Amino acid sequence: MGYLARNVEKRSDPTKLKPGVIRAIVVRMNYLPEGTNLPLTLEDHERGYIARYALGRDYHKVIRRRLAKLAARLADRIAPLSLGYRVFTDTGPVLERALAVKAGFGWVGRNSMVIDEKAGSWFFLGEILTDLPLPVDPSHDDDQCGACRACIRVCPTDAIRADRTIDARRCISYLTIENKGNIPEELRTAIGNRIFGCDDCQIWCPWNREAEATREPDYAPREALTDRPLDELFAMTEEEFLLATEGSAMRRIGYEQWQRNLAVALGNAAPTFERISVLKERLRDSTPLAAEHIQWAIDQLSRKNVSR
Ligand code: SF4
Repeated sequence: MGYLARNVEKRSDPTKLKPGVIRAIVVRMNYLPEGTNLPLTLEDHERGYIARYALGRDYHKVIRRRLAKLAARLADRIAPLSLGYRVFTDTGPVLERALAVKAGFGWVGRNSMVIDEKAGSWFFLGEILTDLPLPVDPSHDDDQCGACRACIRVCPTDAIRADRTIDARRCISYLTIENKGNIPEELRTAIGNRIFGCDDCQIWCPWNREAEATREPDYAPREALTDRPLDELFAMTEEEFLLATEGSAMRRIGYEQWQRNLAVALGNAAPTFERISVLKERLRDSTPLAAEHIQWAIDQLSRKNVSR
């Protein structure tokens, strides 16, 4: 996560990103599909859980396109004056959550997500940094976590600290996505069946009980990836993986990381002879990184009571 240490000046001074910037137009877009039943998949260790934001079309593409349209409309409105602007959505050194709080979207919860009392936290953020002197919305940053500690309690790897920071080295999102190397052995069992990211701190947050569902068809979950049996996902060839993840945020990991993550989940699933033999077969043509995790899975399963 070295990128966080880079561009500190730009992060703290948006005029370094776009000269003349004086305002940020902040937007949010819900992404949780209607009728999503999250805990059921997490409890079924035979199925792979993928963070809900990644199951549809890549949000970077969707939101950037929308923001560009919005900026074009603004430019039309103020013509012949010219509009200076730049759009972002998790794509540059922008303090998105701080801007969202200033824009009146809610507060930053203990789980480090921006929470809105009505919408919950299942949304993406986007910004237009502009030189347009728009009126400023009041912020409502009243912390409404209160005495709740649910996210701290349920985090599978104890990544959420009491002081409202996250230990990224323990966070399953980091371990299964940004992390390109080995997943620390001591955390593999706790990862369970989470094969790309993790949503636990949002799932159990009381502010998400009535969270707004998305109306964006681009965020509809892809069948090829949603709550599929681990064995089927592990059997995917590289071509199939690339096809299933085309235009999706899951392309942030390659096939090697995909296999690594699946091997961990398989090591946490029920032990069967067939599963162990599939894993052994895959060992032969795997990269050293994937092979190390596959071998771990074989060892884990072999230690349990293996059934046919
Ligand atoms: S689970 Fe509780 S403590 Fe955590 S972010 Fe939600 S309200 Fe705050």
